[in-house]
Amino acid sequence: MKKIAIIGGGASGLMAALTLKKELKSNIDVEIYERNNKIGKKILMSGNGKGNISNFFVSEKNYNNPIFVKPIIDNFKVDSLIKEFFEYGLSLVKDDTGRMYPQSDSSNSILDTLRMQLDNYKVKINNDMYIDSFEFKDNVFWIDNKKYDYLVLAVGSVASNKETKNKIQDSVEKLGHSFTKFYPSLSQILTNYTNIRSLSGIRVKALAKIAIDGKVIKEEYGEVLFKDNALSGIVVLNLSAVLARRSQEKTINDAEVILDLLPNLSAQEVFDILLYNIKSNPWKTIDQLLLGQFNKMISQSILKDSGITDFKARVDSLRADDIKMIVKTIKNWRFKVGISKDLNNCQVISGGVDINDIESPSLESKKVKNLYFCGEFLNIDGECGGFNLHFAFASGYNVAQSIVKKINNDEK
Ligand SMILES: Cc1cc2nc3c(=O)[nH]c(=O)nc-3n(C[C@H](O)[C@H](O)[C@H](O)COP(=O)(O)OP(=O)(O)OC[C@H]3O[C@@H](n4cnc5c(N)ncnc54)[C@H](O)[C@@H]3O)c2cc1C
Repeated sequence: MKKIAIIGGGASGLMAALTLKKELKSNIDVEIYERNNKIGKKILMSGNGKGNISNFFVSEKNYNNPIFVKPIIDNFKVDSLIKEFFEYGLSLVKDDTGRMYPQSDSSNSILDTLRMQLDNYKVKINNDMYIDSFEFKDNVFWIDNKKYDYLVLAVGSVASNKETKNKIQDSVEKLGHSFTKFYPSLSQILTNYTNIRSLSGIRVKALAKIAIDGKVIKEEYGEVLFKDNALSGIVVLNLSAVLARRSQEKTINDAEVILDLLPNLSAQEVFDILLYNIKSNPWKTIDQLLLGQFNKMISQSILKDSGITDFKARVDSLRADDIKMIVKTIKNWRFKVGISKDLNNCQVISGGVDINDIESPSLESKKVKNLYFCGEFLNIDGECGGFNLHFAFASGYNVAQSIVKKINNDEK
């Protein structure tokens, strides 16, 4: 009987284990090693505890390495995920942006469902076992003096893990694999913008853009949340992914987040609206001018950044050039940002095992036969919205299918 070790009891490892057992039943022995006292910690954290398991619109375009990801997702599209989990007894629903959640609105349902199946298939789970190394000798893998025919590395990333490197990385490197640099992705974006503290806690709807070395690379509309020293919110998390991926490619000298607070209006239309307000209410003070559009603190920051100093002057004292500056700030509010190295304060890591040494979609190593990789340990990162868990499940599924094929072929 073939023996398979899976290091890592997260989304990808659990899906690999279940798919192997489902396909090959008692003909294989599957054992999971998990460093924590419980499996699936990050599944529980997903979607703020609601379990954002996938996205109805998932495609390779949501990932950093689309060509590598495409065949993996093609073998496990969103309907495969829905069907797989439905078979396990979990009903999923989608929200109006396509994010998929359990019907219960709780990530516990995902993990409970997986746990019940693991029990049913009698998958052996070794909790509290940090595997810091393994050996490949005589065509088999050795973990803790136990030998395995196949090894699946599903250890995830160091995001939110309080470490900067997984100890097992050394064993992987010894076998000839390399790792790309790690950058935090899906994280808040740090800024040294002077008035940021006064805005902390405020949310605005905006078209948010990231400009790197003077060029806008990505833009997305949604809610931006101001924090003490950072910008946050889902759109900002997605912009942070671009920043992380670009940092891998080259040194970034200058990066900015630019907010268009009124993206549905042209600059001329915003100018006309402000002028109309001024003409209709000439008695207003300048600090009252924008209160019909924005929160008070946001209004004040816009005025300051537009070079207005006398907030108590009447609005009809503003010159056309002053109004143009205010419009410019509203349409192009700029925040210089820093490249964060904080790997523990993000949802995923951009960077990981170099995919050039891995087959897709089998996810088998090109260096060592019967060694497989899945999930976030690979240099694959997705956008915010269920894409990372989807890749974890899809890659675990693909690994299992490819091992099943090999075992079945061996038996013929
Ligand atoms: C706060 C937060 C919120 C998130 N929200 C979402 C979301 O809403 N939607 C989404 O799609 N994604 C979300 N993600 C990302 C998603 O959780 C991960 O991309 C996904 O869990 C990766 O799956 P994985 O199997 O590769 O790794 P993991 O789920 O991290 O599993 C790896 C497992 O391996 C274990 N392990 C690691 N090293 C060893 C070792 N040496 N020996 C033994 N065991 C080891 C770990 O303890 C862990 O249990 C979020 C992540 C975080 C941190």
